[in-house]
Amino acid sequence: MDHFIYRDGALFAEDVAVADIAAAVGSPFYVYSTATLTRHFQLFDEALDWGPHLVCYAMKAASNQAILKTLADLGAGMDVVSGGEYARAKAAGVPGDRIVFSGVGKTHDEIRAALSGGIRQFNVESEPEMRVISQVASELGTEAPITIRVNPDVDAKTHAKIATGKSENKFGIPISKAREVYAEAASLPGLRVVGIDVHIGSQLTDLAPFEAAYQKVAELTETLRADGHDITRLDLGGGLGIPYTRSNEAPPLPTDYGAMVQRTLGHLGCEIEIEPGRLIAGNAGLLVSSVIYLKNGDGRDFLILDAAMNDLIRPAMYEAHHEIIPVQEAAPGVDLAPYDIVGPVCESGDTFAKGRLMPPLASGDLVAFRSAGAYGAVMSSEYNTRPLIPEVLVHGDQFAVIRARPTFDEIINRDTIPEWL
Ligand SMILES: *Cc1c(COP(=O)(O)O)cnc(C)c1O
Repeated sequence: MDHFIYRDGALFAEDVAVADIAAAVGSPFYVYSTATLTRHFQLFDEALDWGPHLVCYAMKAASNQAILKTLADLGAGMDVVSGGEYARAKAAGVPGDRIVFSGVGKTHDEIRAALSGGIRQFNVESEPEMRVISQVASELGTEAPITIRVNPDVDAKTHAKIATGKSENKFGIPISKAREVYAEAASLPGLRVVGIDVHIGSQLTDLAPFEAAYQKVAELTETLRADGHDITRLDLGGGLGIPYTRSNEAPPLPTDYGAMVQRTLGHLGCEIEIEPGRLIAGNAGLLVSSVIYLKNGDGRDFLILDAAMNDLIRPAMYEAHHEIIPVQEAAPGVDLAPYDIVGPVCESGDTFAKGRLMPPLASGDLVAFRSAGAYGAVMSSEYNTRPLIPEVLVHGDQFAVIRARPTFDEIINRDTIPEWL
């Protein structure tokens, strides 16, 4: 559920007409709804109400500081995967003790920065990384709280590029090696083992793989406790999927997820952390674009938009489907026609949809890509020297530009010509 609905035929973001935002900031742009972000965070928070927990928003999904602050003000923690994200979370005012640090390749410098600035825990992904964390913490005369990310070898049944919980994936340590690695952790200086971490993938539309993974985590908790480790925290990762099409998908709700977590892990008395990204931000954002041209090809018609793959890469990278709707609603009963919906970038991959049924549209008309809030703006680039597009946040009847469109000069002046030229 989101807060992007038609009112008298005009698409609104909460109480703001999307066309009014377009008039103010120009096209294309991303727009996010505060009410939707808030609702999604609260659904997770309430779903885990049965025990101590922290919802750590996986900020790689959409990391504008205005989004981070909106969520942090509600009590959210953050899951960060780089030193840059750590700095961004801190800049948005998130306290260090609500930040968990994930990611397979944390560097010495990133670890040092997080230990100095405050961190809730590192989710360790390998023995070499664990040894570096131990070393850096010892140098700083402190203790690093850690969990170890175990790879439970379950098939998340999602797109191969976003599956992370099979043994062939690069993430975590094999669960079969966990006792050995925890034993080493206990022997190293500067480390304090606090729990176990698992994250099996993204856009999961079924609870069964989660449940299989969490059952393995439950067993591992008992085993590690018997070995003398103080397991008080279970970080269960993110990954709950969202409906990208209106009709045929019905992913489980956070409430079902929370009940399943209670059923599989509730008896262990651990603090539960989860790291949802997509389900919080995905349906809280639209990409708004306008039609540049309608082009009649040989046997197919093209709708050429001013947004492109550099603004939203999901269709090119994951064959992802996004609903594309007109900002001015089509009259009821109007004839739809199939279009290939493309951007202006010089790549055939710059195709958002093929043969998509659309109402009549003309140059200058606005369209909106639904479910574009997660892995949208954050994955954009300036390919073809196309400026990063603005991000706008709506709150009731107000809206604010939360990242402005750079000028061509700002982009071009980042280059430096060496003195020999
Ligand atoms: C990407 C990621 C998440 C968030 O995944 P979503 O599918 O967006 O919920 C959570 N934890 C880790 C470690 C991740 O890499």
